[in-house]
Amino acid sequence: MTTDVLPAVEVPLLELRDVGKIYRSGSLEVEALRAASLSIRAGEFVAITGPSGSGKSTLMHVLGCLDSPTSGTYWLAGQDVSSMSEEELAEVRNRRIGFVFQQFNLLRSMTAGRNVELPLCYAGIRRAERSAKAAEALARVGLADRVEHRPGELSGGQQQRVAIARALVGDPALILADEPTGNLDSAATADVLGLLADLHAAGRTIVLITHEPDVAAAAQRTVRILDGAICADSARPHEEARR
Ligand code: ADP
Repeated sequence: MTTDVLPAVEVPLLELRDVGKIYRSGSLEVEALRAASLSIRAGEFVAITGPSGSGKSTLMHVLGCLDSPTSGTYWLAGQDVSSMSEEELAEVRNRRIGFVFQQFNLLRSMTAGRNVELPLCYAGIRRAERSAKAAEALARVGLADRVEHRPGELSGGQQQRVAIARALVGDPALILADEPTGNLDSAATADVLGLLADLHAAGRTIVLITHEPDVAAAAQRTVRILDGAICADSARPHEEARR
């Protein structure tokens, strides 16, 4: 008699199944996402790309638990987040996701160190531990000597590094970067993409949303969206082979 040894099943960090999103205003309906299915494993660096109006922001809002889908399911780190309340979503966002935005979204009156501490304040961590962790995260992005600087005293690329340190500080399962180089010149763009590649090499899971093919090329895998539907995925042959 043979004993079947089942291969270890790897649970994806993030799994969307047939996710749809319809925006309704008055009698008008816009189907911004159509039956989007996507599975991302821990440690992947994935770019989501597509032209303006294709549904990237909508997908980013769903992935980031900033909005709920109209239909379908979304599992993040083993939890079904598609039908959670606003409050539960806020909790998941704070604990599981580090955000990086095009506009950096730093508080201008606060030092880099205090900006990076913010997610830890919301998580109720004490002051001394917060500043130690913030200093560590800033050192991780090469800004150990800028802890006391305010955003206005930093270049665009440095401000985005501060934002990346803020995204990292709570040790989230997922880093979600929405057009993170959209406001940067080419040197700072290369710098920020190099940093994201370093974080990926160190085992982080990164989802990068961009309309620029050159920026998407920094990722290991590219998912393309068009008219709200996922139309190409460079990992799909592998996924199909598994089914
Ligand atoms: P992208 O980020 O790729 O530019 P979006 O996700 O912003 O695309 O938009 C996808 C589609 O959904 C577009 O047709 C857009 O006009 C529409 N849309 C986005 N947000 C809303 C909203 N809040 N209300 C109504 N329609 C929206």
